[in-house]
Amino acid sequence: MTWTSSSDSDGVRPIHAPQTVGELIRAGAERLRASGSESARLDTELLLGHVLRADRTTLLAAPEAPVGSDHAATFRDLLERRATGEPVAYIRGLKEFYGLVLSVDSRALIPRPETELLVELGLDRLRGMLMGTHRPLDAPPLLAWDVATGSGAVCIALAVESRRRGYAADARFRATDVSADALALATENAVAHGVADLIEFAVADLADLADLADSPPADLLLANLPYVPSTDIPTLPVAASFEPVLALDGGPDGLDLVRRLLGQLESTLTSHGTALLEIGAGQADAVRAAVAKSLAGWGVTLHDDLAGVPRVVELARATPR
Ligand code: GLN
Repeated sequence: MTWTSSSDSDGVRPIHAPQTVGELIRAGAERLRASGSESARLDTELLLGHVLRADRTTLLAAPEAPVGSDHAATFRDLLERRATGEPVAYIRGLKEFYGLVLSVDSRALIPRPETELLVELGLDRLRGMLMGTHRPLDAPPLLAWDVATGSGAVCIALAVESRRRGYAADARFRATDVSADALALATENAVAHGVADLIEFAVADLADLADLADSPPADLLLANLPYVPSTDIPTLPVAASFEPVLALDGGPDGLDLVRRLLGQLESTLTSHGTALLEIGAGQADAVRAAVAKSLAGWGVTLHDDLAGVPRVVELARATPR
C-alpha cells in the first residue's frame, strides 16, 4: 500500500503518499533550474507529459492528480538526462515543426522554429510558380528540392501543406542529405505523415546528384545547411553538443557549404528557378558578397525571421535564361 486515505483526516500527509502532478512539476522545475536550464518549467512539463502521455494543458488542469511510483521514477530519470544538457526533443523523440510532430533523434539536427520561414517562403514561391503566366497548362509537375534535409522537416512540411492545399499533383519533392542516417530518419517522418509517395530520397553531397541517372533541374531549391562557424560550436548551448556536428559546422566563417552550394546553383535550378537558403545571424553581407562573386547577374533578396534577423536568402536569375 502506498496510499492510506484514512490518515489524511488529521492533516498529516501519509509517508508513502504518491506525489501529485503539481508536486512533481515543482520539484522537477527546481531540479532543472539548479542544473542551469533557462526553460526549466517548460522542460519539466514536457517531460512529465511525455511520461504520462498527456499534453501540458491536461497536466496543468490536474495538479492534484496522483502519479504512480513507476511513472514518477521514469520522470526523474528523464529529468536527470535533461539536467546533463540532453535536449528535450531527443528525450521525447519528437519535435513540433510547422504544426507537425516529427520524430527526431541524434541522426539529425532538431528543427528550429526560425526554419519555418523557409517553409512559408517555399510554399509561397511554389504557389507563385503554379499560377505563373509562363507555365503552360500541360507542364510537368514542379520539382522542389530540399538539400541537406536532415530530419526531413522542411520537405515534409512542404509536401503535407501542398497536399492539403490541393496542389500536390502539380509538385513533386526531392530530399537529399550527405548522411544516410539522416535520410533514414527523414524517410520515417515522410511515411508517418503520409507524404512518402510525393518525395524522392537520395544521398547526395549538397546538390551533387551526379550518380543519379534522372536528375532534372529543380524549380525550387531549399537548404538549411550547417552554417555555424567552427569556433562557435563549443559556445553553443550544451544541448547542441548532442546534435550531429556535421549538421552545424559550416567551417571557419560558417559559410563553406553555402558557398559550395552557390557554385552548384547555375546547373541545379531551372531558368525560372528560385533558391531559398537559411543563414545565421550576421552572415547576410558575406553571403551577398559570395553571390556577387559566383552568381553574376542573379538577384538576392533577404527575408527576416520573427526576431528581425535576416534569416533566408532568396536567389534567382535576374533575367531568366
Ligand atoms: N540555427 C542553428 C543554431 O544556431 C544552426 C542550424 C544550422 O547550422 N543550420 O544552433
